[in-house]
Amino acid sequence: MNEPVTETVLEVRDLVRHFPIRQGVLRRTVGVLKAVDGVDLVLRKGETLGIVGESGCGKSTLARLLTAHDRPTSGEVTVLGRSLYDLGGRELRRARRHIQLIFQDPYTSLDPRMTVADTVREPYDVNPELAPRGERDRLVRELLEAVGLNPDHGGRYPHQLSGGQRQRVGIARALALRPEVLVCDEPVSALDVSVQAQIVNLLEELREEFSLAYVFIAHDLSVVQHLADRVAVMYLGKVVEMGSEADVYGSAAHPYTQALLSAAPVPDPALRGTLQEIILEGEPPSPIDPPSGCSFHPRCGKAVDACSLTAPALAPVDGAGHLAACHLAADPAREPVPRAR
Ligand code: SF4
Repeated sequence: MNEPVTETVLEVRDLVRHFPIRQGVLRRTVGVLKAVDGVDLVLRKGETLGIVGESGCGKSTLARLLTAHDRPTSGEVTVLGRSLYDLGGRELRRARRHIQLIFQDPYTSLDPRMTVADTVREPYDVNPELAPRGERDRLVRELLEAVGLNPDHGGRYPHQLSGGQRQRVGIARALALRPEVLVCDEPVSALDVSVQAQIVNLLEELREEFSLAYVFIAHDLSVVQHLADRVAVMYLGKVVEMGSEADVYGSAAHPYTQALLSAAPVPDPALRGTLQEIILEGEPPSPIDPPSGCSFHPRCGKAVDACSLTAPALAPVDGAGHLAACHLAADPAREPVPRAR
């Protein structure tokens, strides 16, 4: 039987964002920080793509590029078939409506001088075609209800809310624009552990209710596993492994993914003693001067001579759509990293 064809809502082609490093009185360029270095992604309608990696791997820069909060050095982002960076002015504003960013820090992403209701209503003021003036109060009430807030919260200011409530306001504001895609950049990492699960569950419910697709960025692998249909693992600005949640968590092919998984907390006490942690040697190298060949080779316990000479391309491993950038990834003798499910 053929796979159902699912509509692509977001496509990223060879996306690059390099930042020049300038020094001295004359601000001469002395280097280049390769924050995002040739990323390709596809997101389909209703799908959640998780993006994981250590801090500094380029995840947040990627989030800003996907939502046109920054412009790339080169490459293309296509939202609903329209190339985001070819647009300007009103057309760009219209296109950005379809892909909204949920920020990491709900404490700084809201205007402290605006009430909750005004914050959620503001997108309608900027995009008046979305709702007639007389409808907006009702829509704001419905959005607050959808994210688990009550009408009383509408009159409050951000400082009168908890962290979780502020994140709910940010989500309601994004939903006001009726986006197809939410890019969630570490949306729960600034919240108490007890609140994190509530926000993750809320995002899961909203995905169904509003027919959303998510790019869900996090360093916490268990959060990503809970939500994601597919997962991309980033290292030094590049995707080094990508596949279904089952492929990446159950049969990781890249030694970096294997190390991340082996270090992640295991909820099942019976399995804890059976897992062998793969120690990641040293800190991630600087993206200003990445190592030659495979940029993971100085930390990789499996490196061979070729690894410091030739950069491996992202290539098929085993299952359909399971890709890894490692010279040894297609090794049939590869041991899967055991994980609690
Ligand atoms: Fe390790 Fe070599 Fe694979 Fe890079 S290419 S991850 S250094 S084995």
